[in-house]
Amino acid sequence: MRFQQNFKNWTSDNDNIDKFIQDIQLSYHGNAKEALEWIPHDRLYNIKYITKDELGEIYRANWIDGKIGIYAYCEGKKSWDNKNQNWRRQQCNMFVNLKSLNTPNILTLEFVNKIKIEHKFYGITQDPETKNYMMVLNNICKKCNKICNSIHFQHKFIDWTSDNNDIDKFIQDTQLSTHGNIEKALEWVSYDRFHDIKYIAKNEFDNILVYRANWIDGDIISWDSENQNWKRTRCNMIVNLKSLNTPNNLTLEFVKKVYASS
Ligand SMILES: [Zn+2]
Ligand SMILES: [Zn+2]
Repeated sequence: MRFQQNFKNWTSDNDNIDKFIQDIQLSYHGNAKEALEWIPHDRLYNIKYITKDELGEIYRANWIDGKIGIYAYCEGKKSWDNKNQNWRRQQCNMFVNLKSLNTPNILTLEFVNKIKIEHKFYGITQDPETKNYMMVLNNICKKCNKICNSIHFQHKFIDWTSDNNDIDKFIQDTQLSTHGNIEKALEWVSYDRFHDIKYIAKNEFDNILVYRANWIDGDIISWDSENQNWKRTRCNMIVNLKSLNTPNNLTLEFVKKVYASS
């Protein structure tokens, strides 16, 4: 019902896509969060290219409105906000991925169900310049069957680099293996996040230089969905910096050894 009343308020400019989204919205009668929406492109910002796969280009973006809330009942008990006559939403500005839909004819219920095995599928948008239609979605962690810490880390891969592919890959792998256990993740910490850096000693045995420093940001403790960023603790904590003479030392074994001795 609620979706139907809104049909006149949006169009994708493609009759097949309109009809397709409408049908899906009508079929998810009591479960609005599983329906697809038409998402106007100007509700997405910070759009950044990530990579390409067999279906086409993939981007990351922030979605101003965020997804329709979890508790969605057709006649508006929870997710329908009577006062504002609109859906109640969660996670404004949430990170999403945009994936090209090269052939809009590909849109069938079967296709959507296939996408939904590995993704949250929120809706469809159109790039006003290229006129390409794109799916708005999120990866689901195969292990946790939800959007866990690993997925939040993944969204931020394009925001940092060590300028060394091996180190990038190594840090990314530790982040992808965090799931519910955030302490397992390593981060790339840019040098300007440290202050009061002081030389302490040189280890005669392996020539490793040791410094102490204050780390402005501190430890990650959890994902903060309101700010779409990591919540941290112990800002300005004192840490030690040890030189990594040969970045190739960076293996999981090496990291375990460092943990064991600190
Ligand atoms: Zn209804
Ligand atoms: Zn997970």
